[in-house]
Amino acid sequence: MEKLIITAAVTGSLPTKKKTPHVPIRPAEIVEAGIRCEQAGAAVIHVHARNPQDESPSTDFQIFKEIYEGLKARTHLIIQISTGGRAGMAYEQRSDRLTLKPEMASLTTGSVNFPDSVYANSPELIERLARDMKTHGIKPEMEIFDVSMIRNAVELAEKGLADPPLHFDFVMGLKGAIPATIENLVHLKNSIPSGSTWTVAGIGPAQLVVNTHAILMGGHVRIGLEDNIYFRKGELAPNERFVERMVKLAAEFGRPVATPDEARRIMQLK
Ligand code: ZN
Repeated sequence: MEKLIITAAVTGSLPTKKKTPHVPIRPAEIVEAGIRCEQAGAAVIHVHARNPQDESPSTDFQIFKEIYEGLKARTHLIIQISTGGRAGMAYEQRSDRLTLKPEMASLTTGSVNFPDSVYANSPELIERLARDMKTHGIKPEMEIFDVSMIRNAVELAEKGLADPPLHFDFVMGLKGAIPATIENLVHLKNSIPSGSTWTVAGIGPAQLVVNTHAILMGGHVRIGLEDNIYFRKGELAPNERFVERMVKLAAEFGRPVATPDEARRIMQLK
């Protein structure tokens, strides 16, 4: 089994300071969170931008640039920029950040009903984002909210718009997407092409459960306040504590944790 890659999704689009004082919002706070998560054992940081004024999700290129440059200067983490659409749905709003040429970017290969909105990813939009990533030498993390999205990702590879081995992130337990059951996780794992790598992101209390299984199944884990703000029932915690718990669990199960460079090799980043 490969070493365990821990991805820290430190911010996301939704949690606010009112919900948890630990969520980083300003670029400097996001960079500091990245430094602490790297020290705790994370190899990848999944990046969203927020408007510092009202904490709303942002598509502002300058904010992404400030976060990207801060993380690049002060950490050795693999920087994975989100192209998710909560902040703005149009291609233009979601693609200009790719010109920063991060090592990775997230790519959702289908549409899904969020509890309060439609997360729309048309075939045309997905292909355009994939083409941009390929042009800039960015490895996509295929964000899989449902089984059908795996097929769409494989099709991108067949069309030459993504290079194997593919890397997947199974987002489980979000209302409107695939439920976070172990049976579903096994099915997702069995549905990706052999040679692919995979991570799992469980929403809310599902985070710890699916991550524990991923450690045992040879997958990788995503933690962080984007997906879950409670360390345990009623107890809030900063991102790095969630990283520390993964490191401890992995050690218990005899699975060493990957450094950023080891993660680069495992996912075959260029
Ligand atoms: Zn995200």
